Amino acid sequence: MAAASASAPYKGTTIVIPPEEVTLLDVPRMSEGSCFPSPLTARRWPDNKNFVAHGDFFVRVRWSEPHSSGAAKPATPPERLAFLRAGPCERICRKPEDVRAAIVTCGGLACGLNVVVREIVMALWFQYDVRTVFGIRKGYRGFYSEDEPPIELTPKAVSAIHTEGGTVLGSSRGGFDAEKILGGIKRLGINAVFVIGGDGTHRGALVLAKALSEAGVDCAVAGVPKTIDRDIPMIDRTFGFDTAIEHARHAITCAHTEATSARNGVGIVKLMGRNAGFIALHASLASRDVNACLIPEVPFTLRALNLWLDRRLKDRGHALIVVAEGCSPADAAEYGVDTAAEPERDASGNAKLADVGEMVKGAVNKYFKTEHPGRDVNVKYIDPSYIIRSAPANATDSVLCAELAFAAVHGVLAGYTEFTVGTVDGEMAWLPISEVATRPPRKVDSDGSQYARLVLSTGQPDFSGSVPGAPAREAVWQQAAAKTGKLALPADGA
Ligand code: ATP
Ligand code: MG
Repeated sequence: MAAASASAPYKGTTIVIPPEEVTLLDVPRMSEGSCFPSPLTARRWPDNKNFVAHGDFFVRVRWSEPHSSGAAKPATPPERLAFLRAGPCERICRKPEDVRAAIVTCGGLACGLNVVVREIVMALWFQYDVRTVFGIRKGYRGFYSEDEPPIELTPKAVSAIHTEGGTVLGSSRGGFDAEKILGGIKRLGINAVFVIGGDGTHRGALVLAKALSEAGVDCAVAGVPKTIDRDIPMIDRTFGFDTAIEHARHAITCAHTEATSARNGVGIVKLMGRNAGFIALHASLASRDVNACLIPEVPFTLRALNLWLDRRLKDRGHALIVVAEGCSPADAAEYGVDTAAEPERDASGNAKLADVGEMVKGAVNKYFKTEHPGRDVNVKYIDPSYIIRSAPANATDSVLCAELAFAAVHGVLAGYTEFTVGTVDGEMAWLPISEVATRPPRKVDSDGSQYARLVLSTGQPDFSGSVPGAPAREAVWQQAAAKTGKLALPADGA
């Protein structure tokens, strides 16, 4: 394994990090066989200055605990990870004429899947002269399902798919059977698999890579991470997120119109985000109309939310609430939700989440019916999830999709395997799937500046209400009232 030393110029000096303090995220190579000039050097790109060297690592330093600048540094030293720089290599180690590739899309939809599929095909074909590319239908089961055999992907077949949402290959949950997939790979003579999917898909890719190596099948496995939630660990961005924010903002605008048009109108918009509230947070910041944004990382109670809403309706006559799908109110049981019940699971084994939008709507209606039976409160709940994730990629996401697809293709031709792609601090990297599939998902830092900006811009109080150790009702009410100066605390239920 190569030694990593990291240095960065800083105001004329060089900061050197000792190699032993850096964790190298190396990526396996298929074989250390002979390498030869890439077709890109020979014919298409003779003067290119952008080739990456094999084994070129860059370092990212992150403090695990947040701290303000000027404050004492946390006791835990920062994590220093060395990432393998991705890009076209001057010398490649897979013969393009021998490559038989397959592309599969798994899990839920995300905006830009078709762009990634298209650009993998285009890069294989035009940059490396690879002529055999199979499209695997409806997720992992397409490797062995007789109902939907693989299709041939050519530039002509994929040239117009980027304008459509969804995935032309289809997708699915469940259906991962390593033995059967291995059988399909052997039958078709596939030696490079591109998987486009989320955490589950990457865990599957890892199992598949192990099965391939145990069976002695020489087949690279490359991933392109797909999560509209932006919760893949370590990488900056995932494709589809930017488009999702645009469409989410539109839904929020519609909910705002509904809320402001009704008497005591309350708009509730549920946005995607099972573990992390990035979409809800960014869409709320983009909208500027949101009055309360609830994310899974920040606990809240429905009781505190209702107290705030009561005040807000008195003061302003309408309210707009955004809630991420993974939110779980601490006092849900008091509103008739069976929190102790074993959750249902989908075909991939993911827990099915209770509809938190319905939960909030029910709690608001119940509160006003009980506490203010005479008050006419109009709650409108909008769930735009499927509309958002099936949209075609916008311009920014299309650019990212192509970058990720190219990086995956360059990595396979350079001889790497069991890797996935992504930008880390703006640099494209090849990352070991093992790291991405096993690290906990990325989350919004509730102590960070982005969440602070959200709270400052919505003016929302701390809704943690009756969560043990959190501010009591008085504090919620006073925070909610501070903006208007009406600080007097009314009697319970007033
Ligand atoms: P998303 O959740 O963003 O929609 P995902 O990739 O996580 O995407 P899943 O439905 O969880 O979606 O998984 C996609 C595929 O990966 C399915 O075929 C599933 O069977 C397979 N898979 C999930 N977890 C594993 C695992 N631990 N081992 C093997 N295969 C898995
Ligand atoms: Mg998943």
